[in-house]
Amino acid sequence: MTVHPERADHEVIAGRPASVGGLDIVRVLPTRGRRTVGAWCFVDLMGPDDAIRPDPMEVGPHPHTGLSTVTWLLAGEALHHDSLGTEQPLRPGQLNLMTAGHGIAHAELSRPDERFRGVQLWVALPETTRHDAPAFEHYAELPEVALGGGVARLLVGGLADGDDPVTSPARADSPLIGAEVTAVDDGVVDLPLRSSFEHCVVPLDGELAVVDTVASVGDIVLVAPEQQDVQVAARPGDRWLLLGGEPLTDEIRMWWNFVARTNEEISEARRAWQARDDRFGEVAGPLARIDAPSPPWERRTG
Ligand code: MN
Repeated sequence: MTVHPERADHEVIAGRPASVGGLDIVRVLPTRGRRTVGAWCFVDLMGPDDAIRPDPMEVGPHPHTGLSTVTWLLAGEALHHDSLGTEQPLRPGQLNLMTAGHGIAHAELSRPDERFRGVQLWVALPETTRHDAPAFEHYAELPEVALGGGVARLLVGGLADGDDPVTSPARADSPLIGAEVTAVDDGVVDLPLRSSFEHCVVPLDGELAVVDTVASVGDIVLVAPEQQDVQVAARPGDRWLLLGGEPLTDEIRMWWNFVARTNEEISEARRAWQARDDRFGEVAGPLARIDAPSPPWERRTG
């Protein structure tokens, strides 16, 4: 009998085009057969690379529950308003992290005179914090870690890098890693991983290879489980996200802008938003409020 050496099986899956408030996006998570990577439950690329005239982002006031939004720009500028009274411009290299807890509302607007590209990610909150008061954080700068052949900027958490790793100052409600990695030269970047985490790689610029699995912008690479590291090759200057975290133990339910555990919780959040209940508050700014559609389980048939 021949025993083959263990071969890591990394899976590449193409994202699907969608529209959020009129903005063209590519959704790479959730994807076919995979709803979450750690607590990361939603990854949208905003303003596809091949768009001739990318639309501005103009997403009017809308609510969230049970999640944090992580907004990361690649080009242009965005302005965030929320029901805590926050008004925060965002530029590439800066982080907006909004934690909804029990409920928050926000609006997002890009500068129309600039090409706009970015990523918006959602993190499902654990049971311990998902009912808490909402919060907002902005970081003008984030720590960087030099890797052979590349540099990692830490959005959330830290790389599995010795006993005392450099860690992002941003809030993390569960064990997470979120990093933007830039290839510096033609070498291969060796990314240290925690073997207890699930991980994925999301290309942001050109084509890259995760070991021998080739992917490009609009794809997600699901890293094989229980790896201690992974090698990524890309052209100098090209970027990608490394995302990971402890696998979720809770069964989460996602519908529209809500993350919860049951349909009843989502129906209650929707009712509160439609009733303009204090739960979500009011958002300043020029954009019109977005109504929640009715969830499929509330629709009568026949
Ligand atoms: Mn939102």
